[in-house]
Amino acid sequence: MSTAPVTQAKAPMDEFNPFQAMAQRFDVAADKLGLDEGLRDVLRTPDKELTVSIPVSMDNGKLRVFTGYRVQHNFSRGPCKGGIRYAPDVNLDEVRALAAWMTWKCSVVDVPFGGGKGGVICDPRQLSKGELERITRRYTSGIMDILGPDRDVPAPDVNTNEQTMAWLMDTYSMHVRRTETAVVTGKPLALGGSKGRTEATGRGVMIATREAMKKIGLKPEQTRVVVQGSGNVGGIGAMMLARQGMKIVSISDIYGAIHNDKGLDVPDVLAHLRQHKKLEGYAKAEHIPSASQLELDCEVLVPAATENQITSKNAERIKAKLIVEGANGPTTVLADQILEKRGVTVVPDILANAGGVTVSYFEWVQDRAGYFWTEEVVNSRLEQVMTTSFAAVEETARKYSTSLRIGAYILAVGRVATVYQLRGTYA
Ligand code: NAD
Repeated sequence: MSTAPVTQAKAPMDEFNPFQAMAQRFDVAADKLGLDEGLRDVLRTPDKELTVSIPVSMDNGKLRVFTGYRVQHNFSRGPCKGGIRYAPDVNLDEVRALAAWMTWKCSVVDVPFGGGKGGVICDPRQLSKGELERITRRYTSGIMDILGPDRDVPAPDVNTNEQTMAWLMDTYSMHVRRTETAVVTGKPLALGGSKGRTEATGRGVMIATREAMKKIGLKPEQTRVVVQGSGNVGGIGAMMLARQGMKIVSISDIYGAIHNDKGLDVPDVLAHLRQHKKLEGYAKAEHIPSASQLELDCEVLVPAATENQITSKNAERIKAKLIVEGANGPTTVLADQILEKRGVTVVPDILANAGGVTVSYFEWVQDRAGYFWTEEVVNSRLEQVMTTSFAAVEETARKYSTSLRIGAYILAVGRVATVYQLRGTYA
């Protein structure tokens, strides 16, 4: 897999602009597929972008206005699907890129959704639960007209969770005068959530890692893994990988990283995190700065925090043989080129972290049918989707003599292009 010739996208004008990064990789896939300029324009361009102002009464009695976005990138294959993130640095280009990645991701795993994404500029660490609820409800009412089980179905992302989805579902339901569980996924089980959804992205990362390790001949018991991030994807991913017999030597959070070359006790680290909300103070490991974590000695690196972590500045120093992108957009286009030349295999985000949207699709199906599956059924169907999709990406990469990333884009863009052409352009 790592011996394919370099076929990466040209460097974007701004290495750290995620939408440009998406567009560059899209263009390489479109070239390989021979798509004409008009169709490329349609597929590259977001269908709808909504910016809303969110006035909220804060706990101190003052009014504050937040800004929120919802971008619907492409609905050719079905309702738009994608998470909502709360962070101080959310911006429209980031949400656009994340929405487009959702279109390609849903297509890679062949679930009948298009791509969307949302975000609110705020720092949840500085907000009370009441303030977060009021932001969520007002944001939902602001984007209400473009939501719905057949239009656009949000889910959790960075700094949002089951509770956020419960507030969103309730707000939507109050407006439409009926309980509409299928308007969001990643809900609590008691509100129509799916068994296995919380673990789904981490489980999918584990399956993708396992499949890639088989291909490059890495054995679990000889494999050291570094995981950046310890939230839904990183924390659960680390636990699932440890259960496969791999040694998790480092985990991080936004404040710093911990390292133990003998292997961390992952459940113990996660218990510390639940209690203290940060890794700080964890006694059974060495504490190291975040920046050096990615360059630690290991066989597998799982970036599971945020965008632009593996860049032209550190790609030469990455020691891992295999990178599995738990996060969306953690590797820049320039870093891809360096890694490919060095023979490092990268399992791209739109495949590696697609377990979440796959089980979100299962949740939506269960809500609409009003019939709920056992955890064994959910997990075995997820296993099937991830292994089939991994094999399809690998085969496409081989067929076009390219990287797994570009293989995944070719597969995804090709499927969306076919559907778009079958539907035709409404005039
Ligand atoms: P989360 O909020 O649960 O956790 C994020 C983690 O990253 C936290 O441990 C946080 O401390 C850490 N972090 C944030 N910024 C960091 C930084 N600059 N350096 C180091 N650590 C940092 O979020 P999540 O749901 O786990 O999402 C993580 C990534 O995975 C995001 O890119 C998200 O888009 C992607 N993703 C999430 C899902 C899902 O189902 N939750 C699905 C697919 C992709």
